[in-house]
Amino acid sequence: MIHIERSTNLKVKPAQEKLGFGQYFTDHMFMLDYDVTKGWHDARIVPYQPITLDPAAKVFHYGQTIFEGLKAYRGGDSRIRLFRPEANIARMNRSNVRMSVPQLDSDQVLAALEKLIEVDAKWIPSEPGTSLYIRPFVFATQPVLGVAPSEQYQFIIIMSPVGAYYPEGINPVRIFVESEHVRASVGGVGEAKTAGNYAATFMSQQTAKEAGYTQVMWLDSAQHRFIEEVGSMNVFFRIDGKVCTPALSGSILAGITRSSIIQLLASWGIAVEERTISIEELYEAGREGRLEEAFGTGTAAVVSPIGELCWQGERLIIGESRTGELAKRLYDALTGIQYGTVEDTFGWVK
Ligand code: PMP
Repeated sequence: MIHIERSTNLKVKPAQEKLGFGQYFTDHMFMLDYDVTKGWHDARIVPYQPITLDPAAKVFHYGQTIFEGLKAYRGGDSRIRLFRPEANIARMNRSNVRMSVPQLDSDQVLAALEKLIEVDAKWIPSEPGTSLYIRPFVFATQPVLGVAPSEQYQFIIIMSPVGAYYPEGINPVRIFVESEHVRASVGGVGEAKTAGNYAATFMSQQTAKEAGYTQVMWLDSAQHRFIEEVGSMNVFFRIDGKVCTPALSGSILAGITRSSIIQLLASWGIAVEERTISIEELYEAGREGRLEEAFGTGTAAVVSPIGELCWQGERLIIGESRTGELAKRLYDALTGIQYGTVEDTFGWVK
């Protein structure tokens, strides 16, 4: 049972062209509490509001927190589609296990998502390319400084209408290959969606931005040679006509878009090699004109073509810095399923 307290003070919705990403939030949020004696309890939808936490809450000191990111889309037929929510919930519980956070009941989370979307349905924008970004997260609230898992948590879902990622059409980006700092290491928490993984990237991201690059490409922590991810996206390459992506090594986040793209390509008869890919191999292929395409994949942009890399001062132009044919085809197919213009033969849409 979800108790619902409706807001009596509804917000003015921003114009669709002003949305951007994660700047505006809907009228309501979902909350659920945990303590060791009661387990998860007190499911409720309340007006969107600030929360009060004790300054000793463990999340502030030890970073015991995880989050997810998924989207709901309003198609031209007005139907609202949630893309693969069960996959996000399953990943959330894997993150919970890794961060010693108690798991959530998948059915309860899905019901909460669906109810919150129903309550705030008017917030789902309808312009092409816009969507409702959904951010579920769990954090440790116990006000005790002992270095041990919290005995109290809160689970919250907030939602934000977001603008079109590519208002002027899908565009290649420039990527800086980070060969000094790393995002994550095998055996660490890279495959968990936990806050610290993101804070760890900001310094490199800033350096890359200052040098005129949009994002950072991450290499493995042991040898600084093997490609892992690009910004907060997984990454694919087309080399000599074959598609490859870094294998999930334990330090890479298992993207839902990544898995969808692998399945889509398989359905088109294109096998994806999931393997180690070194930056040397990539540059060699690039110098010899065999690197046909590179693109990142993730919920926010769906597919983001990479037009240029810079590694240890050497620039590599990929596919004449144009959007590759495979990236475009994948983008159209996935967004088509999300907005309901392409038949969902995979059962991804809820
Ligand atoms: N890698 C990282 C580090 C991410 O944060 C994300 C975004 N969740 C992704 C990859 C892409 O995952 P998804 O396709 O599930 O959005």
